[in-house]
Amino acid sequence: MIGQGRRGRGTAAVAAFLAAVLSMPGMPGAQAAAPEKGQVGAKLPAAASSVPAAPMTEAKKAALASIDRHRDEIVDLSLKVWRFAETALKETKSAAALADYAESQGFRVTRGIAGMPTAFVAEFGSGAPRIGIMGEYDALPGISQKASSTKEALEPGAPGHGCGHNLFGAASLGAALSIKEAIAAGRLKGTIRFYGTPAEEAIGGKVYMAREGLFRDLDVALAWHPSTKNEADTSSSQAMVDLKVEFFGKAAHAAYDPWNGRSAVDGLEIFTHALNMMREHVKPTVRMHYVIQEGGQVPNVIPEKAALWLWLRDSKRAGVEEVLARVRPMVQGSGMAAGVESKLTIQGGSWEVLVNMHGARLLYSNLKALPPLSFTPEEQEFARTIQKTTGVETKGLRTDVVPLPDKPAPQPEGGSTDVGDVSWVVPVIHLEAATAPDGAPWHAWPVVACGGMSIGQKGMIYASRALAMTMVDLFERPADRQAIRDEFQEQTKGVVYKGYVPDGPPPVPDTAGAKP
Ligand SMILES: [Zn+2]
Ligand SMILES: [Zn+2]
Repeated sequence: MIGQGRRGRGTAAVAAFLAAVLSMPGMPGAQAAAPEKGQVGAKLPAAASSVPAAPMTEAKKAALASIDRHRDEIVDLSLKVWRFAETALKETKSAAALADYAESQGFRVTRGIAGMPTAFVAEFGSGAPRIGIMGEYDALPGISQKASSTKEALEPGAPGHGCGHNLFGAASLGAALSIKEAIAAGRLKGTIRFYGTPAEEAIGGKVYMAREGLFRDLDVALAWHPSTKNEADTSSSQAMVDLKVEFFGKAAHAAYDPWNGRSAVDGLEIFTHALNMMREHVKPTVRMHYVIQEGGQVPNVIPEKAALWLWLRDSKRAGVEEVLARVRPMVQGSGMAAGVESKLTIQGGSWEVLVNMHGARLLYSNLKALPPLSFTPEEQEFARTIQKTTGVETKGLRTDVVPLPDKPAPQPEGGSTDVGDVSWVVPVIHLEAATAPDGAPWHAWPVVACGGMSIGQKGMIYASRALAMTMVDLFERPADRQAIRDEFQEQTKGVVYKGYVPDGPPPVPDTAGAKP
């Protein structure tokens, strides 16, 4: 989410650092530290090599044919959303484009759900099994970029699809459509549901949709994310909580009668100092980052108001809770020390992704059955130009499939996502597909550039195909569905899901502009 961002973007170094720290002699868990996830050529655990390619059933062939038939429309949708480049909760045209297309293809579409005008569900079929697939479509502010291999804004200062969500929504809908057609033709039985999930980069629309119970009746849900690699994702994400910390003082002339004033900024400064001291005394998995949103206006007025926007993350929710419990008295204490009032508000957050290994194996077996992703020499050259411009190794685009480990990576890559919340309500299978050059910065112009041309489009269609094949298996193979559910039940035993959302409706639209 909010720059909570694509999991793992540009954070391999963090994961490597954590793996190194955790494997230091004497560190708890030193024995358990596994090879870093995603390393090509890393030694394969036995389980990975034993996953055979999934069989190519008639229903799968038909689903792939459907994606081929609708390819131009799926690409067109991704381009429309790329050009709209609407930020969180303002994805009006983007959501409408996807929802209208779904409706035109015969889905029952419900718009404006969970209190968000840009959230929708498109459903087809009836009864069990019920398989869901998620699609995002929000852009990021300020990173407008042409579909070119050098940095050049399409419209200076405007938003851009620096997380590839224009591809995300369109590919997921394309996969859902292929299943819809299979159900309509009587090849598959059950319900397919596409979730149009807004504001991933801000408030995390899925958290509000989960609060409404919209995922609860699914057997399994799928999602994917544009990436620099192809992978049945087995890495979790960071849990995080989004906080607002405010201080309220008393204004006075800063030179004439400062004794009459109490500075809200003093409270804020004491707080950030305390927080920064605490960094020494938290687990290495903890991340804390903030921006100062209000800190007075002129030096000769003692500031009445100061505000800070803070995110706390850890690899597990329990770790976030622990740090949050230490931050609460810190806020109060800072206010007391400065003689000002203080306030802490939870604005949002997300749970860490719960990895379902049986689901990942099923997806991986379908990645093995698919012809590999391929790029033309021109596309590889485009990617290498970007890599050269951004100062990373000119390795081009990845087409390989990352080997499947036999268990989730010990530590998540950096970043959080509202897919995490969904994964505690229903088992989630997650794919990454290469849509941008290896190593180039994420949430930045290279991703926008590739998302608006054939590189992103090829990765997107590859994702659509892999997701469609995996969904066919979920419909046709009750034993796999059951194994996925059993693993999920085991993992969530005793856990009552309650997302980090404030009471009341989602903040639409006033904070939308400020938050992404
Ligand atoms: Zn992102
Ligand atoms: Zn993203």
